[in-house]
Amino acid sequence: MPDKIVVAGVSVDTRHWIGGRRVASGDTFTDASPIDGSVLGEIARGGPAEAQAAVVAARDAFPAWAATPRAERARLLHAIADGVEKRLEELAIVETNDNGALLRSHRRGVMPRVAHNFRFFADWLLKLDHEDFETRGHTNHVSWDPAGPCVLITPWNAPLMLATWKVAPALAAGNTVVLKPAEWSPLTASLLADIAAEAGLPAGVLNVVQGYGAEIGDALTSHPDVRRISFTGSVPTARRIAASAAANLTPLSLELGGKSPLLVFADADLDLAVDLAVEQYDNAGQVCLAATRILVEETVAAEFTRRFLEKAATLTQGDPRDEASDIGPNIHPRQLEKIDGFVQRAIAAGARAIVGGHRGDGQYYAPTLLADVAQDSEIVQEEVFGPVLTLQTFADEDEAVRLANDTRFGLAATVATGDTRRAERVTAQLVAGTVWVNCFFVRDLLAPFGGSRQSGVGREGGTWSFDFYCDLKNTVTAPKGWNQDHG
Ligand code: ADP
Repeated sequence: MPDKIVVAGVSVDTRHWIGGRRVASGDTFTDASPIDGSVLGEIARGGPAEAQAAVVAARDAFPAWAATPRAERARLLHAIADGVEKRLEELAIVETNDNGALLRSHRRGVMPRVAHNFRFFADWLLKLDHEDFETRGHTNHVSWDPAGPCVLITPWNAPLMLATWKVAPALAAGNTVVLKPAEWSPLTASLLADIAAEAGLPAGVLNVVQGYGAEIGDALTSHPDVRRISFTGSVPTARRIAASAAANLTPLSLELGGKSPLLVFADADLDLAVDLAVEQYDNAGQVCLAATRILVEETVAAEFTRRFLEKAATLTQGDPRDEASDIGPNIHPRQLEKIDGFVQRAIAAGARAIVGGHRGDGQYYAPTLLADVAQDSEIVQEEVFGPVLTLQTFADEDEAVRLANDTRFGLAATVATGDTRRAERVTAQLVAGTVWVNCFFVRDLLAPFGGSRQSGVGREGGTWSFDFYCDLKNTVTAPKGWNQDHG
């Protein structure tokens, strides 16, 4: 297998990055582009041996990195951000070829955000502090100690964005990292390894291993030298990871799926509500936060639907490299099968496709809106992870809240209303890690991010990231001359 492939003119190393060296595996897996199914290359297929080597490299590099002054760690993270900005165009085009998401959003939104992930956590690290406090003359000093090697396992829907949102705080905290990107979009993680090395990050501080989760995952997550595991992905995989981490009681952060509602009240700005609804087709619906259940107050349902159809008709589905495209392909033929399975079973159960309801050409799925769906049906309860929305109506606020909260998930919720009192009442009752009122996807790295119920365990973002990635320590010091017995 060649060590390097060229994707849209960019050279990408297909091997692991372990202990500051490129490492091949005996076996490979094929990485194909969702755009046209073309083969991008053969990627190193890691297993337990590579997992072991990467964790050992991270373990060996840990003491020196943990002892590196905060200001120096921050400087290196900014240098990585500089590298990301310098190679922004390359990262954007490789990511688009690898995962099929829009080039224009990679260029303008995602990759700048990747750089920001490093800058934000570098700056936050320098501010991280807790005032000392006193107990009967003794000083309490709280410190955020680096925890050790972290295993970070990430998904394919926003590969580099979600990887760096874990890598940056983990490194800032003084930890070393083994990153395992998703096998359907492995390429930008390899470029990140190059960028980190060029920035001067010491060998072994960031390691990247490639491979199928089922083959390399367990060796990473059950390893006794791993001090933290952060995972973004599906609920069934999270269960396996949690079971594997249980052997060593390794602390976990799990960011999982959702089936989030968009509540549209009759007093809402309907055009805004329609914009918010149509926005849920972004990234071909492959967004964990997507508000895929649209709940509309009965009295405005017909008008909402009319305007939704009008707006949806203006969307262009096509090649994600084309600036004019609004919706690209779905990631993999298997994902397409899964999406269509959900839709066809829903239709067989009585759902009516107001928009779409079928595959498009190649790996594209027609943006779909399904009405006449029962609250307890599969299509309302299960995450599809494709451009598929459901439409339900409610009579009043109580029913809206009841339907909104009636799934096993609790990742996000969006409320469209013109009444601030109502917004306060409703948001207070919603079970969700993030609630947006008259907006969507506004995400500040300062904010806690995560899910309730089966949408996740724990929160990351701002201080919460450092709470997770550090071993918090309280040191209590007696005053000078203090005698325990005669104090
Ligand atoms: P999906 O089903 O949407 O592809 P997954 O949750 O299975 O999502 O995948 C997210 C990430 O989890 C990927 O990097 C994948 O390789 C990894 N993964 C899958 N199975 C395991 C496992 N048993 N242990 C650790 N990681 C895994």
